[in-house]
Amino acid sequence: MFTVPPISPERLPELLRLMPKAELHIHIEGSLEPELIFALAQRNKITLPYPDVESLRRAYAFTNLQSFLDIYYAGASVLITEQDFYDMARAYFVRAAADNVVHAELFFDPQTHTARGIAMETVINGLHRACVDAKAELGVSAALILCFLRHLSEEEAFETLEQALPLRDKFIGVGLDSSEVGHPPEKFARVFARCRELGLHLVAHAGEEGPPAYVWAALDVLKVERIDHGVQSVKDPALMRRLAQDRIALTVCPLSNQKLCVFPDLADHNLGQLLDAGLAATVNSDDPAYFGGYMNDNFVQTFAATGLTAQHAYQLAANSFEASFIDEPAKRAFTERLQNCFATS
Ligand SMILES: [Zn+2]
Repeated sequence: MFTVPPISPERLPELLRLMPKAELHIHIEGSLEPELIFALAQRNKITLPYPDVESLRRAYAFTNLQSFLDIYYAGASVLITEQDFYDMARAYFVRAAADNVVHAELFFDPQTHTARGIAMETVINGLHRACVDAKAELGVSAALILCFLRHLSEEEAFETLEQALPLRDKFIGVGLDSSEVGHPPEKFARVFARCRELGLHLVAHAGEEGPPAYVWAALDVLKVERIDHGVQSVKDPALMRRLAQDRIALTVCPLSNQKLCVFPDLADHNLGQLLDAGLAATVNSDDPAYFGGYMNDNFVQTFAATGLTAQHAYQLAANSFEASFIDEPAKRAFTERLQNCFATS
């Protein structure tokens, strides 16, 4: 057990920025900044429904998950070539490295692209090449998780899986994202069972806006290893005990929760409650270009609003390595770096 040395509240923001951390909940299409959307639109000769960068940014005043998703899918429409996917992921990795993210597991939504006639290879090869270069050039290890869009059918998820299987060595797992309410995990029971047989890691969004029952179903029906968001779990004490006992990580995204009005005031966020109940909660950026912040913005703003401590900071970063899909020696090496950072700060 590592004892966190006394750290004054004034020094905490710097420590939050400096500490090594893993990001486990980032939709790479949600890292597309308006400037890059316009640059790619120009490169691909696409006309956007917004006259300039500023008017697009102004449209980012969301009231719920759906109002965000509408703009998110419009933004993704500028991605055409393998180089576009590479450039998008590269821009994210540069930002992540600046925030001392040392490992990232990236979600991508192939159906958003294949529905527009973009080939699966174009998407995966571009993103995968960016992951390889991130390790070599920026020191950020990275892996890809293919997400099924839950507002579409399970049959379409199966078709997507089929298209991706020739590239099986370029992604490590599958997830479930997009509009949650009305699309319970059970809808994807068979495709997740198939992915499990294939040895893929399994995660799913659950309990962001949806009820605790969706978290139970993600665990017991889909058999996921992590829950993305999961903040609604506090409404169910039995579920909280289950998550704590099994060390099921929650990939919490505070600024996303604030922007989408899950917790309209960051001061009311339940991250501290989750940690204090012994859950393996982590901090993540979700869709940073749209929700006003990358990893360190999420850490610094949440800690400032809620009064979390250095002990919480250490726990969140340690949880991020524990919950990642890297091997045990790599987890130990990252955790050691984290402890050195705290010991010398
Ligand atoms: Zn998400």
